[in-house]
Amino acid sequence: MTAYDTVILGSSANALTAAAYLARAGQRVLVLEQSAQIGGATATGEFADGFRADMGLISGRLDPGIVRDLRLHDHGLEPIERDTITSLLPDRRGFTLPADREAAAEVIRGFAPNDAARYGQFMRLLDLASDLLGSAYAAPPPQAQHPSAADAAQMMALVGRLRGYGRRQMTEVMRLLVMSVRDLLDEWFENADLKGLLASAGVRGLTQGPFAGGTTFNLLHHLTIGDAYFRATASGGIGAISRALAAAAQAHGAELRAGAGAPRVIVADGIATGVQLASGETIASARVISDYDARHTFTQLVDPPELEPEFNRAVANIRYNGSVARINLALHELPHFTGIADDALRGTLVIAPSLTQLEQAFDGAKYGSVSDQPYVEACIPTLADPTLAPADQHVLSIWLQYAPYRNNLDPRRLSELALERLSEFAPNLRSIVLHTQVIMPRDFEERCQLSEGHLYGGDMTLSQAFFLRPVPGFAQYRTPIEQLYLCGAATHPGGGVSGLAGKNAAYTVCSSQESGISIQNVQ
Ligand SMILES: Cc1cc2nc3c(=O)[nH]c(=O)nc-3n(C[C@H](O)[C@H](O)[C@H](O)COP(=O)(O)OP(=O)(O)OC[C@H]3O[C@@H](n4cnc5c(N)ncnc54)[C@H](O)[C@@H]3O)c2cc1C
Repeated sequence: MTAYDTVILGSSANALTAAAYLARAGQRVLVLEQSAQIGGATATGEFADGFRADMGLISGRLDPGIVRDLRLHDHGLEPIERDTITSLLPDRRGFTLPADREAAAEVIRGFAPNDAARYGQFMRLLDLASDLLGSAYAAPPPQAQHPSAADAAQMMALVGRLRGYGRRQMTEVMRLLVMSVRDLLDEWFENADLKGLLASAGVRGLTQGPFAGGTTFNLLHHLTIGDAYFRATASGGIGAISRALAAAAQAHGAELRAGAGAPRVIVADGIATGVQLASGETIASARVISDYDARHTFTQLVDPPELEPEFNRAVANIRYNGSVARINLALHELPHFTGIADDALRGTLVIAPSLTQLEQAFDGAKYGSVSDQPYVEACIPTLADPTLAPADQHVLSIWLQYAPYRNNLDPRRLSELALERLSEFAPNLRSIVLHTQVIMPRDFEERCQLSEGHLYGGDMTLSQAFFLRPVPGFAQYRTPIEQLYLCGAATHPGGGVSGLAGKNAAYTVCSSQESGISIQNVQ
């Protein structure tokens, strides 16, 4: 008998979600994290004496069904809503949209009356599209190449849902999926400031500008996982999400081991039979699930010769090219932002003043350089959660895009750019910085095994989504190696801390005939 039913490699949100569901279904589960801390990209760590920050995410929201199923509130999860988004504009102007749509329309009326009248209708259209995506995200994608009766039924259910919107809305929703976010916003709105802000979630995490086709899909993806404009975090930082998931997994009997070192998957006759750690220790398991992205899994965790050349080629063709840098500033006091209300500092701050400027921020990235006017998002998590810094001191977390992987970027230049950009609005910022942490795409690759430093295990483009993620023919969490599965953001439905890929992967494992686990225990 093997020691474990399932060994999971990696410990980010999807790994821990899969672990919790599988343990709840009665499996003996072991999670192995190679670094010292459970949580992966969802970890919150100390970056300066007494200051803690999220190492990857600046926000994130687990799927509400997972929170309910795993009773994560009982395991300490306390979500914090960031229910405003503020656009910082040239000449120290700015506006703040609240999550409440009528109140937001009222704010827009102040500077763009025609657009105010359309805001509610626009958001309702996005709701319809993300509702459709939500139902596609809640299950493993159908096998498109050789669909079974169940796959065909699943596809028909989606089509039925779409048809239920009525002919006009159905057409609109289908157009959205392939449109550029610029074309979408130009159709709906006139005001450049508003369009810049609304476009930002269409390019977030993507190495494309808003003029690129398919960027509306990236916007819809962020809306579907509840992380587009009105975002969330947790008390204690994003790391509290992984702590709650870890506690739920452990409560169901899963074992978690951090500091395990780099793993390799043991494959015998095309079947995964366990894991070998860098120390030489071997752990036998009936199956192995990798939370790592497809490139890392199929080049570092198993030997490419175990795989067919066609599969290796498909993996080599996955588009990564990460271009987000994260900068955390330890501040000895609160920065003073001009032109916006104090309350707005509790929400998300965005510098994306127009569609053109967002596209120009991307232009240089095509050739490996960084714009002088990058797209920046920032938040001050210590306002809602003072435990992250010493008394009366603060953390400013910054997302800087585009900082392309294919460039030997100087971290000081990136922090300087971020400071320059934000100091336009917060003139005292430079003088209150105690410590700066810069994490670039190359750091994410070296320290966190994220290929080309990509946040989502591969770009969230339509060519890498649904039944094409991570590669055509293997979108259902299975791999060409029997008993080796994937569960991370590299798989459907992609990036973000929703946990849905982990839940779907657990469901797939349990659906396999040989697992003998009841599916009811997973759903
Ligand atoms: C810089 C950055 C910013 C992000 N911002 C957001 C956001 O704002 N909102 C959102 O919803 N999602 C965001 N994401 C994406 C989100 O973190 C992942 O999609 C989510 O964590 C999915 O987790 P996963 O289980 O698929 O594994 P991944 O997070 O893809 O990680 C795979 C494995 O790599 C290793 N690993 C990854 N990161 C680290 C790390 N920091 N330290 C040590 N090991 C690591 C772990 O072993 C982990 O199991 C961001 C990711 C990064 C890297």
